[in-house]
Amino acid sequence: MTTVTALSAPKASAPFERAELERREVKGDDVRIDIRYAGICHSDIHTVREEWGPANFPLTPGHEIIGTVTEVGPDVTKYAVGDTVGVGCFVNSCGECEACKDGEEQYCSKGVVQTYNSKDYDGTATQGGYSQGIVVREPFVVRVPDGVDLAATTPLLCAGITTYAPLKRYGAGPGQKVGVIGLGGLGHVAVKIAAALGAEVSVLSRTDAKADDGKAFGASAYYATEDDQVFEDLANHFDLIINTVGASVDLDRFFGLLGRGGVMVNVGAPSEKQSFNIFSLIGMRRSYAGSLVGGLAETQEMLDFCAEHGITATVEVIKADQVDDYYDKVVSGDVRYRAVIDTATI
Ligand code: NAP
Ligand code: ZN
Repeated sequence: MTTVTALSAPKASAPFERAELERREVKGDDVRIDIRYAGICHSDIHTVREEWGPANFPLTPGHEIIGTVTEVGPDVTKYAVGDTVGVGCFVNSCGECEACKDGEEQYCSKGVVQTYNSKDYDGTATQGGYSQGIVVREPFVVRVPDGVDLAATTPLLCAGITTYAPLKRYGAGPGQKVGVIGLGGLGHVAVKIAAALGAEVSVLSRTDAKADDGKAFGASAYYATEDDQVFEDLANHFDLIINTVGASVDLDRFFGLLGRGGVMVNVGAPSEKQSFNIFSLIGMRRSYAGSLVGGLAETQEMLDFCAEHGITATVEVIKADQVDDYYDKVVSGDVRYRAVIDTATI
C-alpha cells in the first residue's frame, strides 16, 4: 500500500479534513497517477450531502482528474511514466457484458465501479480525485492531448463527456437548433461543444447575468427564463435540449420549446422525483431521455475533439482550503464556471 494525502469528508455535509488514503500497490494493468488537478462537479456535492441517498464515509470525492503517470504495472502497454493522463467518473467495469463490449461501460450490467463512493470488485471502497494520487486500471485511463491547459481541461473528464455524448447521440450539428438549460459546469461546456459541432446554440439560463459569457462560449442566442415571454417566443423551436439543471424545473414549459420530434435529454440529476404532463410530449412526438456520462472510447474521442477545437472549461483554480466555501458557491450558482482544485495545496 502507498498512502496519499487527500481531502476527506468524515460524515455527510461535514467540512473536509486532510486525511491519509491508502492506494493499492501497482500490479497487472494498473497505472499510478500523481494527481495535479481535480474538478468539483455538482454530483460531488449531491453525494457528500447525501442528497441522492446514504453515502460511504469517510469519503473523498472527485471524478474529474488529470495527473502524471508515475508507475505502471507489467501488463500496461499504452502508458509510460511521465505521460499526462485523465480519469473520469468510473474506474472499473466487468468488460464482458453487452454494454461494456459496446463501449458504454457506464451502463455495465455487473454495475460500473464509480471513482468514489463505490465498492471495487475486490471489495475496497473507491476514493476519488481530491487527493494527491490514485491507482487505476489502464483501460479506465485516458490520454490527455499534448499542449492543452491542464487545469481547464480537467472538467472535461465529467462535464465534457456528459454533454458530448448526448449531443453526438442526438445529432447536434449544422442545421440543428440546440438549447442548453443552465449555464453552470456542464452547461457552459455543452454550449462550447455544441457550437463546435456546428449547431445553432441557445442558452436558457434563469437570469441574464451570464449573457455575455454565454455568447462568448459560442451561443448565438441567450434567453433568461425568468421572463415568461421566452416560452411563447420559442414555442416549438428546438430540435434538442440538454437540461443540465440539478434541481426541479417546470418540465412541461420546457417541453413546449421542442419542435416536432424534438428531444430533451436530462443530464441534470435532481434528487426529487420529477413529474410532467404526458400531453406535453405526445402532441408533437417529443421525447424525454436521460444520459449518464459516456464510455471510455468516447471520452478519448471527446478529449481529442476538444483539443482540436481549442475547447476547455472556463475555470477557477482553487486551493484545498477553499473547497468547503466553493461547495456553497456552486449551489448558489456563483462559480464561473467550474472550480478546479490544485491538488498540490492539499
Ligand atoms: P452546476 O455547475 O451547479 O450547474 C447547474 C446550473 O443549473 C446552474 O449554474 C444554474 O444555471 C442552473 N440552476 C441551478 N439551480 C437551479 C434551480 N433551482 N432552478 C433552475 N436552474 C438552476 O452543476 P453541474 O456540475 O453542471 O451539474 C449539473 C447537474 O448535472 C447536477 O445535478 C449533477 O449531479 C448532474 N450531473 C449528471 C451527470 C450525468 O452523467 N448525467 C454527470 C455530471 C453531473 P443558470 O444560473 O444559468 O440558470
Ligand atoms: Zn461529474
